[in-house]
Formats: sequence, C-alpha cells, structure tokens
Amino acid sequence: MPQSAVFPGSFDPITLGHTDIVERASKIFDKVYVAIGQNTTKTTLFPFGKRMEIVSKVFVNIPGVEVLSYEGLTVEICRKLGAKYVVRGLRSGTDFDYERNIALMNSKLYPDIETVFFISNPDYAGISSTIVREIYKFGGDISNFVPDIVSDYIGKMDRAVY
Ligand code: ADP
Repeated sequence: MPQSAVFPGSFDPITLGHTDIVERASKIFDKVYVAIGQNTTKTTLFPFGKRMEIVSKVFVNIPGVEVLSYEGLTVEICRKLGAKYVVRGLRSGTDFDYERNIALMNSKLYPDIETVFFISNPDYAGISSTIVREIYKFGGDISNFVPDIVSDYIGKMDRAVY
C-alpha cells in the first residue's frame, strides 16, 4: 500500500531547511503533501495565496510532492488524505520539546498517526522563517537561506508594506 505523509507548516517564507526536509521525505514516502496552514493568527509576511504559489513552484519538479492548503487540525487533513505520517523537522532541543508535545497530542487525537522527525541538515539548522523575515525587515540579504524563487519574489516586494 502506498505510504503518504503530510508536512504541515506556515512556510512564511519557505526556506532551504524546509526544502531539504521535503526532498528527504520524498525518498522515503510515496507521496508527501506539503500542507500550508491557513488558520494561523500570526501576521504573515507573505499573503496566503503567494505562499501557495511560491511553494508550488519550488516543488513542481519533485515527483510525489503535492502542495495544498488546509484549515483546522493537522490530524484532520491527514485523515482526509489517508496519510498516516506527519513529517516534522528538528533543528534543536527547543524544537524537540515543542514538537514532542504536538506529536503526543496528535497521536491522542488520531492514534493511527505517526510523527516522523527529520534531524535538520547542519547547513540549515540555523535557518528559521522568523529569522529570514527579520533579516528581510532590516534590509539584509536572505538569498543564502531561501530557494531562488523566494529571493526573486521578495526582491520585487515593497519593504515598506511589511
Ligand atoms: P510552523 O508554523 O508549524 O512552525 P514552519 O513553517 O515554521 O511551521 O515549520 C514547519 C516545519 O519545518 C517544522 O517541523 C519545523 O521544525 C521545520 N523546520 C523549519 N525550519 C527548519 C530547518 N531550518 N531545518 C529543519 N526543519 C525546519
């Protein structure tokens, strides 16, 4: 039976840390759904539609990767898609403490779900969307941390609107 996994996140913006996890997961699972959460209360740098467009472009040539949006609980989108695995990335002990609780809660909500953790590639372990947004805000160069599509798009944005 084909095995599917969901990689949920805000991807505001998508970084090289995220793309590394998706590429690695796509070698293990038949299908990886990159699920962009719409229910965040956070103010985002990228509007939702733009995140969808960019993330879809980033993975267009990776077989078995599909980008979609979702609202509500991650376990519900897994149930709908028939995916038994949630993929998450671990950069540090702080990530572990946070992710462990979410994984435990998700397995209570949906016992068939297994969360699979990928240890961050050391080259990308310092990258977070939050820091990328901060660098952008202060006019720094983000191109070493994000896919080219993101740098190209961000270069055209009006920084004053952020
Ligand atoms: P969320 O809003 O759910 O935290 P993010 O888009 O920030 O979503 O992150 C989604 C997932 O990607 C999380 O599991 C996070 O730990 C992981 N992740 C983020 N940045 C990196 C990175 N540099 N290396 C590995 N995993 C990462």
